[in-house]
Amino acid sequence: MNFLPALLQNRCPQCRKGEIFKSTAYNLPHYTEMYEHCPHCGLKFEKEIGFFQGAMFVSYALNAAIVVGTFLAVYLFLGNPEAWIYVSAMLVTTFVLLPLNFRYSRALMLYLFGGINYQKNI
Ligand SMILES: [Zn+2]
Repeated sequence: MNFLPALLQNRCPQCRKGEIFKSTAYNLPHYTEMYEHCPHCGLKFEKEIGFFQGAMFVSYALNAAIVVGTFLAVYLFLGNPEAWIYVSAMLVTTFVLLPLNFRYSRALMLYLFGGINYQKNI
């Protein structure tokens, strides 16, 4: 599997086959639960204690992109409405996309800063 599909499907960065998370993104009581080790290759996802604290910064960047994208969409499609509509739209998209933001920020943290190389033949 290529890099981008593996990242978008939250697959292990080493084998790109095993899943990182135990359930789907919108299974709200469980969307944060991760496997400790990859179910396919056994890679330990949390390389060191606190590794995923760095995902907060990735999450911040993702959320900034979501807010800016929402602002532009509201401006383009609604023709510069009142401020409360911008704020409401940004809050709604932020909360609706929160599970995806959480998961992709952790997956990006693993892929970009985990120092893990893809091994095709696992
Ligand atoms: Zn794996």
